[in-house]
Amino acid sequence: MSCIFCKIAAGEIPSQKVYEDEAVYAFRDINPVAPVHILIVPKTHIPSVGAINSENSSIVARIFEVIPKIAEAEGLSRGYRVVSNAGEDAGQTVMHLHFHIIGGRKLTIMA
Ligand code: AMP
Ligand code: ZN
Repeated sequence: MSCIFCKIAAGEIPSQKVYEDEAVYAFRDINPVAPVHILIVPKTHIPSVGAINSENSSIVARIFEVIPKIAEAEGLSRGYRVVSNAGEDAGQTVMHLHFHIIGGRKLTIMA
């Protein structure tokens, strides 16, 4: 399989792991835009938000259960942003569903 985030989630490519369970993997972004910049991904390959459907949405719920735990562990009590870029106009560069967790400073307005 050639997907970089599948390989990271499987431990085949090194990453700075933040959280892992049987379905979800979270790791530090290699090019952080804020003091805390974590990516959380499903271990199964879903290309983007555009491919979420009734068959696979339970993993998305799982991811959003884990996000507050990570935020708490990272000390983001003042707040944080969760972002997923979907498709070309949004600038998605890795075609494996991922949610950015960004915080640790006052964030500027979106877009
Ligand atoms: P996006 O542009 O929303 O598709 O986000 C992809 C993100 O993945 C970017 O913020 C990259 O910095 C990050 N990224 C790409 N390769 C790696 C890697 N090997 N380890 C950690 N983060 C990565
Ligand atoms: Zn993948």
